[in-house]
Amino acid sequence: MSKVERRKVIVVGAGPVGLTAALALRNKGIPATILEADPKDRPRPGSRAIYLHKATLTLLEKISPGLGFTLSRNGVSWPIKRTFFRGKEVYMRNYGVTDMKHPTKLPPFTSLHQDYIEKYMYEACLKEGVEFVWSSPVKDVKTSEEGTIITTESGDTWEADYVIGADGARSVVRESVGLKLEGPRTADTFLVVDVKEDEDNPLPLERVFHYQHPAMGGRNVMLVPFKGGWRVDLQLLTGDNPDEFTELDGVKKWLTKVMDHKYAERITWISSYRFHQVVSNSFTDKHGKVLLAGEAAHLFAPFGARGLNSGVPDAIIAVKGIGEAYSEDQLAGKKKAIQSAANERKIAAEWNRNASTTALNHLQGDSSYMNMKRELAVSLTPIVPKLGRWLDEGPYGPKSGPPELTTKY
Ligand SMILES: Cc1cc2nc3c(=O)[nH]c(=O)nc-3n(C[C@H](O)[C@H](O)[C@H](O)COP(=O)(O)OP(=O)(O)OC[C@H]3O[C@@H](n4cnc5c(N)ncnc54)[C@H](O)[C@@H]3O)c2cc1C
Repeated sequence: MSKVERRKVIVVGAGPVGLTAALALRNKGIPATILEADPKDRPRPGSRAIYLHKATLTLLEKISPGLGFTLSRNGVSWPIKRTFFRGKEVYMRNYGVTDMKHPTKLPPFTSLHQDYIEKYMYEACLKEGVEFVWSSPVKDVKTSEEGTIITTESGDTWEADYVIGADGARSVVRESVGLKLEGPRTADTFLVVDVKEDEDNPLPLERVFHYQHPAMGGRNVMLVPFKGGWRVDLQLLTGDNPDEFTELDGVKKWLTKVMDHKYAERITWISSYRFHQVVSNSFTDKHGKVLLAGEAAHLFAPFGARGLNSGVPDAIIAVKGIGEAYSEDQLAGKKKAIQSAANERKIAAEWNRNASTTALNHLQGDSSYMNMKRELAVSLTPIVPKLGRWLDEGPYGPKSGPPELTTKY
């Protein structure tokens, strides 16, 4: 028989953004319940968000003391980055080794598999008494001035004052309240392959970017270490047949041109993407009862690592908005608090989308202007070293972050 339950706030989705929202609610003393479609021990795909910026670690440490340091201790921070252009090194920087085992302050970034990020977040949630309802796909969300009503696939009903929609790219929450993602999709296909490190004989921890790798017929290749493995990104050329490169035999064939042969037997994940560059037309519904966060609200190409790194502040600011709404007596004040949280994160998402578009334009180099700029930079790097830095940083977009309207959480 279907049941009717009531909670103050419900988070939909137990991905990393939903887990962050739950931790932020607990940090404010608000009970947190997560409805998740999958069963508890579901497999999760690929390394995905391997790069967490210091700003993200700092936020997580604030809402869940110890979590930022746990993520840092369990990740790696590569000291060296290198950039090659057609096989010739045009930039190298050595930052020196960061102590990741006993950090006394949070490192500039940490790199670990998203599975582990979620595991440590989940453990923190259990400690904070977050309620998990697994195997409960949400089918519909209705809102009114009084609150929200969620219906799950099994016919159960959950009433709540507020809902945080952290149910990912195909968000049912977003669709139910009539919101939609807007924006383009990349024309080029990118391949993402994870390989397991050989712990007895590991490669040095270096992030390496190759423009027009000579062994790869001029395709761009990026190698990024994470704890226990490597992520290898390959950018296909227009006219390439993605199947040729994505089937296991095809991957083995090209991977051994850019890494030692042993890694062909260590492949753990293969995926191909044409990236979306989309932002929801609003981050809240017309009644100010639902807030979207993470991939439910936006999707970006991963160059510059703006996905989870912006999903975390989305979740935290959504909770801040809800906290402020609870402290208002009047409906108008409550709505204003939610609207202002939603606006803040929509502005940030638009900024992030522009930043990853800049990175993509640089990477794709398919305008004659960008090609000329890159060629010029390569030829002048020996006398103007900062051009090497431009070549190195270009594939990740601007280094600064979106405007921060909120200073206190
Ligand atoms: C190749 C690649 C590389 C990336 N690299 C980085 C990086 O280096 N750094 C970075 O910051 N980000 C990166 N990202 C992005 C990052 O992985 C995402 O931003 C992050 O996973 C989004 O988390 P989320 O919680 O919003 O969504 P998800 O992880 O998709 O979680 C959504 C959750 O909602 C659940 N759900 C879905 N529908 C329902 C429903 N109807 N009812 C209940 N539950 C539901 C799902 O089962 C899931 O558990 C990368 C992504 C890719 C693909």
